[in-house]
Amino acid sequence: MLQKTCECGHPMEIRLRKVIYARAVEVDNVPVYMCPHCRRISILPEIKEDLARLIRDLGLEPERNAIDFADVSEWAYLIAQATDESRMHEPIQQLIADRVDQLLDLMLLARSLEDVAWEAELRGRLSQITRPVLAS
Ligand SMILES: [Zn+2]
Repeated sequence: MLQKTCECGHPMEIRLRKVIYARAVEVDNVPVYMCPHCRRISILPEIKEDLARLIRDLGLEPERNAIDFADVSEWAYLIAQATDESRMHEPIQQLIADRVDQLLDLMLLARSLEDVAWEAELRGRLSQITRPVLAS
């Protein structure tokens, strides 16, 4: 998981990049694979769906805006955590496990508050990170 070899044969690194969409919207913290050898870049397959949804929501002529992709995508959030200096030494699996625990706690809280919309949002976030894990 989260490892990729470049077409040129070198292992690719995961980086967070700022992407400008439609010359108006800055989307920060988009996780990409980058090859340190030939500089080829490709978007993480795990986040393609979230990015596509974001772009669809923005429409063709979005207003000037700045978005932190980590607020939209659980993978972007986790990778931002993984590249944060304080947690860099922890394996991504640990970060995922911690985040799943955190989301489950919040879901219990949302349920006890009978906040249906919040609970649905949390369930959506949870499914973003558990889906690829369960599939592998
Ligand atoms: Zn390469």
